[in-house]
Amino acid sequence: MTTTWDLTFLYKGYDDPQIDLDLEKADQMAEDIAKYRGKLSSLSSSEFASFLKQHEEIGNFLVQCGSYGSLLFSQETTNDNFKAVFAKVQQKNVAIGNKLIWINLEINKMEPEVFSKFLNDPQLKNYHHYLEVLRLREPYQLTEPVEQVLNQKALIGSSAWVKFYEEFTADFKFEVEIDGEKKTLSQGEMRPLFRDPNSTTRENVFKAYYQKHVDNSIAISHCFNNIWKDHGQNVDLRKYPSTMTIAHIRNQTDEKIVEKMMDVVKKNYTLVQEYYKAKAKLMGQGTAIKGSDLYAPITKVTKYSWKEAEEAVMSAFNEFDPEIGTMGQRLFDENLIDSEIRKGKRTGAFCAGITPALKPVIHMSFDGTSDGVATLAHEMGHALHDMFAARKQTLFNYHPPLVVAETASVFSEQILISKLLKTMTDEEGKLTLLVNQLEDAIGTISRQTMYIYFEKECHLKGATKTLSFQEMSDIWDKYVKEAYGDSVNFLPEQSANWASIPHFLFIRYYCYAYSFGMLFVLGLYQKYLEEGNPFIPKLKRILEAGGSQFPVDLAASVGLDIRTEEFWQAGFDYLHGLLAEFKEIVEKRS
Ligand SMILES: [Zn+2]
Repeated sequence: MTTTWDLTFLYKGYDDPQIDLDLEKADQMAEDIAKYRGKLSSLSSSEFASFLKQHEEIGNFLVQCGSYGSLLFSQETTNDNFKAVFAKVQQKNVAIGNKLIWINLEINKMEPEVFSKFLNDPQLKNYHHYLEVLRLREPYQLTEPVEQVLNQKALIGSSAWVKFYEEFTADFKFEVEIDGEKKTLSQGEMRPLFRDPNSTTRENVFKAYYQKHVDNSIAISHCFNNIWKDHGQNVDLRKYPSTMTIAHIRNQTDEKIVEKMMDVVKKNYTLVQEYYKAKAKLMGQGTAIKGSDLYAPITKVTKYSWKEAEEAVMSAFNEFDPEIGTMGQRLFDENLIDSEIRKGKRTGAFCAGITPALKPVIHMSFDGTSDGVATLAHEMGHALHDMFAARKQTLFNYHPPLVVAETASVFSEQILISKLLKTMTDEEGKLTLLVNQLEDAIGTISRQTMYIYFEKECHLKGATKTLSFQEMSDIWDKYVKEAYGDSVNFLPEQSANWASIPHFLFIRYYCYAYSFGMLFVLGLYQKYLEEGNPFIPKLKRILEAGGSQFPVDLAASVGLDIRTEEFWQAGFDYLHGLLAEFKEIVEKRS
């Protein structure tokens, strides 16, 4: 029996009058602190600290109400009462948030001497990192009227191209033959078929999917070219040192660290190539796999009951560390996991950390597969991260930056996988785990870094010159070849794969956070394998830091240097270990 969550620690129900009272309270507080407007620079450090504390307190109220609304909606998207609460708290959040916008703007405009006085005052220690991050964009900020014009123009410029691409491609209809029958399918219907058990179906789907993008090359090329050019103008106007600067600010990293990471990923493309060669062998395809078989399912599904899933994760957690075991157990004992599959429930899985004073909750739909068990471990990891961070942090420092946000979740998955690989006697089950882990790591680390290489070259070349669809496909093929070598025989249509990846249009260099995040954690996990139990207190210190430090300092605080090749290589050493186990099973079978 799967479980449903108990949200009464937040509010008694959707009609609890406390929701409105809390919203009113937050609204009143937002009005009250407006009296400091225009005066922040003249406050003493202790006054400024208490001001930020009040600002944070408003945040606590807003996050509590806001999360409750969105959790109810996730629980049952079709419930009108829940929808009404969600809409109300969202609208109130925006309205109250608008009353607070002046604060960050005013902090950003502080004279450098005033700002650095606050930044370095011990009375403001708790807000040091928050203030530091707030000012990261400052050196690249243009004058206010220019920023306003740029914002307005973006609506009919870059943002308009993104919107056009989304609507245009969402409307694609694909003619494809499935089991001898001609069908017309939508985007949503096509994508799951990349993993269809039937090889002919997969091939037909891949061909039709990418050919559609080739057939619409004029419109698609315009979208991508305008994004390359728009960003090129931004780099010029703001005097960014590189096309990637904006992404480094967002991720709280820097160029050198990211280049080192990408370098190491490139050096380890052997992982990708050896994996696909072995998969080809397993599928009886010689030494290179067909391009449409990249995601071909090759294992049987092992089924778990919810109880078995709980036992598998909890025994791995308890064996790893008793304190982590006890904290994980709380999630079950206090009904903080909604795992039931229900009609109207939001799809996907997430953990909501809410605020440091409140318990985290997990939303997932447990389907009984080994993937489902891994998801449970993953989301429980997020919850552990929140619980550890809550010990030391306040709301403004609670959530870690994107690139280290997966630390506890991916680490927890590895704890589970290692334990299962050690104890499992059934070879098919082992193979499933290894395939899932390796394909996930290749997809998240190697492939996303390959995307970044592609994106980087397009930004450099496309800033001044219009690139043809074919030129962009050629750039794509070059980096694909580098990553996959001769381990995959790609279909000619797959050269247009880039044209189907919306991330390139949405946010500059969005994908490196995936590679960075996962490789960062696997590096930590490999350290744990090498050091054993003495590593565990270090891990806990990292988790307790929440969002209070830059990733580089976070790692340094436990003696790790993410500026070095060795750090990033450690993650791959772990993956090469999994690959060796996979290849051993493949050899045995062929
Ligand atoms: Zn996650």
